[in-house]
Amino acid sequence: MRATGTLVPTALAALLAIPAVAQQASDVTAPEAPSGVEQKAPVHATKHMVVAANPLAAQAGLDVLRKGGNAADALVVVQTVLGLVEPQSSGLGGGAFLTWYDAASKTVTTFDGRETAPAASTPALFLGSDGEPLGFFDAVIGGRSVGVPGVPRLMEVVHTKYGRTPWKDLLQPAIDLAERGFTVSPRLNTMIAEDVGRLDTQPATRAYFFDTAGAPLAAGTVLRNPDYAATLRAIGDGGADAFYEGEIAEKIVRAVTSHATNPGALSTRDLADYQVKERPAVCAPYRGLSVCGMGPPSSGALTIGQILGMIEPFDLATLGPDDPESWRIIGDATRLAFADRDRYIADGDFVSIPKGLLNAGYLAQRSALIRRPTALPDDDVKPGEPPWDKAGLDGAELRMDGAAFDMPATTHFVIVDDEGNVASMTSSVENAFGSRQMVAGFILNNQLTDFSFAPEKDGQAVANRVEPGKRPRSSMAPTIVLKDGKPLYALGSPGGSSIIPYVATTLIALVDWKRDMQAAISMPHMLNRFGTYELEAGTSAEGFADDLQALGYKTKAVDQNSGLHGIAINAGGLTGGADTRREGVAVGD
Ligand code: GLU
Repeated sequence: MRATGTLVPTALAALLAIPAVAQQASDVTAPEAPSGVEQKAPVHATKHMVVAANPLAAQAGLDVLRKGGNAADALVVVQTVLGLVEPQSSGLGGGAFLTWYDAASKTVTTFDGRETAPAASTPALFLGSDGEPLGFFDAVIGGRSVGVPGVPRLMEVVHTKYGRTPWKDLLQPAIDLAERGFTVSPRLNTMIAEDVGRLDTQPATRAYFFDTAGAPLAAGTVLRNPDYAATLRAIGDGGADAFYEGEIAEKIVRAVTSHATNPGALSTRDLADYQVKERPAVCAPYRGLSVCGMGPPSSGALTIGQILGMIEPFDLATLGPDDPESWRIIGDATRLAFADRDRYIADGDFVSIPKGLLNAGYLAQRSALIRRPTALPDDDVKPGEPPWDKAGLDGAELRMDGAAFDMPATTHFVIVDDEGNVASMTSSVENAFGSRQMVAGFILNNQLTDFSFAPEKDGQAVANRVEPGKRPRSSMAPTIVLKDGKPLYALGSPGGSSIIPYVATTLIALVDWKRDMQAAISMPHMLNRFGTYELEAGTSAEGFADDLQALGYKTKAVDQNSGLHGIAINAGGLTGGADTRREGVAVGD
């Protein structure tokens, strides 16, 4: 596809084209693993494929596809195995968003399995007795941050609608592994060790993730989880109702409400009332493709769509990843999109969201702001005035920017089956090990801390404030890109709000820079969400610091925690890529 516009050459762009810059940049064009991480090769297949963050989960998903199961079946297996072997990231006690391409109807749809705030929540949930926002971990650890989990119902809803393997059979691989025991991976060991001081302060997680001497379980330890097996058996027999009602639900409520120092207000009624919502996919055009994903309560698809819409008039293909000018355009488009995100995006079932965030005329106006030689000054990075759909919703409904933390944990997996169904699912307990509470063999999420801690700013309500039954704003971006109505790419990542630039830049690498899926995922990260350019530490991205500073940015070398997993679907077959920064693999036939 051709760009619809070309970059206006600037004196600065010419200045930057000096040999030293070209030299640095050529380091970035080569598919490169971040330092200390082995490069992964792209994986090719013709029939079906699974890419997931842990080899045991990917293989279990592949086994189901080999036995004639489809992507809806495989996602149940992949999710339940991940909940066992990668418990820090996702599981039954968390939430998820699924973007699904249905081969039979040739349509994309999304499923919202996001956690909800208990009915007894108030906007002051994360304010201390002094009226000030709590510290992040003071909010996270305990019962206060736990939202009603969405994963069990999401798996059931999707399986009921699309699956073909009997439900009970799909839970068996995780039950077997939980009973037989699995080997603690190096990454799980590292995550436990990094959480000493938090994870070992809570009795259930201390008992499970530490040895009898109190040391983090070593990599290679065989870990059994009979409680998880029992929970899965109950769900196998009774469906998701066995989770949302009865003994398991009561255990969850007890753990949340009776926490010694930081209880929450979850009730059995909250669990019984939980609903997964199927929502229309949010699709944004980019160079003749349609980039589809999860709308509110996630900010993922809208913000990625805005970034791509703002950069579409620029000829990034010709500039290439070598040129700091590409990164100026991408970085400032990201900053502007984040300004809108912070102002306008929250759970659309509770607050009005401007319908024009992806309006072509609006994005052209926003894009014009970055037609300049240097970085946008911080003062010029402000939310815009996107069109609203209803009269009277502009001034009065304008809300103040919210501030929410989101720290990287989470997992993304992608499945393509023999029929061409595609599952792109991001699943999360929010922070690593969620609320650090463990019930019936699984971790409880801390997803409510994705709400803005402060409910108002300068006397005006923040869109993403806590409200009863509301879903916290997410950045998760399970994405499926269509070309002529057919899936071309499926991808996503963990990483908190960095998910948005991780996915957007991977798409740019695929579409504009013609990388294969693995090479696109392996590119060193360069992100700018809030003004400072974050350059992936230990990679050639750091070599851009001087040029970006010359353009007016502050820069910082930062470890990046993406877990990008994707599949490209071409006439020649499937090409999978797994993030070099985590333990994931692509497997297929
Ligand atoms: N809680 C975050 C969100 O929903 C995801 C956290 C992460 O990716 O680590 O956007």
